[in-house]
Amino acid sequence: MISTPDFPTADHMINYPHYNCNTTLNVPPLHIPRHSVTYSAHYNNIPVYIILITNNLGKNRVRKKKWGILKDQTSSIQYHNFATMPHHPQTTADSAGIYLHIPFCKQACVYCNFHFSTSLKNKKELLQAMEQEIKMQREYLQGAPIETVYFGGGTPSLLSADEINHLFDTILKYYPVNELKECTLEANPDDLDKNYLQSLRGTPINRLSIGVQSFHENDLLYMHRAHNAQQADYAIKAAQDAGFTNLSIDLIYGTPGLSDKGWKENLAKINELHIPHFSSYALTVESKTTLSHAIKNKKATPIDPEQSATQFEILMQQAAEMGYEHYEISNLARPGMHAIHNTNYWRGRHYLGIGPSAHSFNGTSRSWNIANNALYTKSILEENKLPSEQEQLTQTEHLNEYIMTSLRTMWGCDLNKIIDEWDNTYASMVEKSSHLFQEKKWLIQNNKKLFLTNEGKLFADAIAAELFISDA
Ligand code: SF4
Repeated sequence: MISTPDFPTADHMINYPHYNCNTTLNVPPLHIPRHSVTYSAHYNNIPVYIILITNNLGKNRVRKKKWGILKDQTSSIQYHNFATMPHHPQTTADSAGIYLHIPFCKQACVYCNFHFSTSLKNKKELLQAMEQEIKMQREYLQGAPIETVYFGGGTPSLLSADEINHLFDTILKYYPVNELKECTLEANPDDLDKNYLQSLRGTPINRLSIGVQSFHENDLLYMHRAHNAQQADYAIKAAQDAGFTNLSIDLIYGTPGLSDKGWKENLAKINELHIPHFSSYALTVESKTTLSHAIKNKKATPIDPEQSATQFEILMQQAAEMGYEHYEISNLARPGMHAIHNTNYWRGRHYLGIGPSAHSFNGTSRSWNIANNALYTKSILEENKLPSEQEQLTQTEHLNEYIMTSLRTMWGCDLNKIIDEWDNTYASMVEKSSHLFQEKKWLIQNNKKLFLTNEGKLFADAIAAELFISDA
């Protein structure tokens, strides 16, 4: 039971000036973090619980709010006083996602710096370890209902339907998955034949994200992809014929052989093939990749940032003409067809990552698994130990992540949310730093929200970095 001294103080009232209501202090039926105050209220006549997690420095400042619907009011103390309501209930941790990293690929694409192995020799043991990790991590999301499951990689389409079902059944065993909205499988075109697609119909997969990258042969050769242009085309049509209408494809621009005309053709193809969602990335040269070595040794043409910028502008213009919403810097969709799993990342929802190199976030800390298949498997199966590291996010780190991710989306960076969840002073600092970019017309402010203009999107990360709050 929460004792009366924990009840919100005047400090909370200052931090949350937007809502007032009479409350009844309750003990909600869930785990209560240390450094928190918990109470209940009625929101639109629905009884809800609210947890305000304060920092542990004795300053009694609220770091984070959690709330949910009270299903079982176990005991209550009548306590009429002040309470606050969450400003963005949809962005809190009342549902969560699970990401499964499948770390195998048929061959290495030259630009790739994800974790994967081209040897499938130990696939069986690795999948066993992943199932074990699903079980070991069952408390991580604190019983939050699982709304999305995402098989990413690597190349998850190297898994058979049985292997996918096995992993999913393990999730079902340990997590509440009553309201699954989206279950995505990343797939490479060369894996998507009729038989495989048919077998996927017997799994919970209801969305495919296909790694097309380009419909031009010379691009695919430059990138050292395992598929050719004809397979890209075929895979999309075969997936649609098999009943997968919720499709996304990945496209890369800025490859040295891709002319602006060729890029426009790639974009037109999305419309022509009725693909409701696509992700589009500029080719980047990451260190320690085959591409970076080849460029250094003058064996590959370097990429031209001017070309990438022009093709990004073409992307914005043509996508808008074709009726796609540019809802995140690298993601575009027909209205209502946004990727739920990824959107939840950007909105601060909690997620659990399973598998080598997978990352997790629970609202206050981030953790990541070792990026090595053999060590991951050994640690879990032989030592019964999670091979992961963790970092606690400071208040400002968390805020800076919000600035970075929200600015990249069409929902913008909400200054009222910063006031609600962090601090009025921080919101003023962000607003002040934004003035320079508003003058340049790279940012606009509307209803206390900051949005990137099309020109600003070219410098999204640099602008976000200028808005960051430093700890000093
Ligand atoms: S298929 Fe994807 S994960 Fe595998 S090497 Fe290519 S880009 Fe990387």
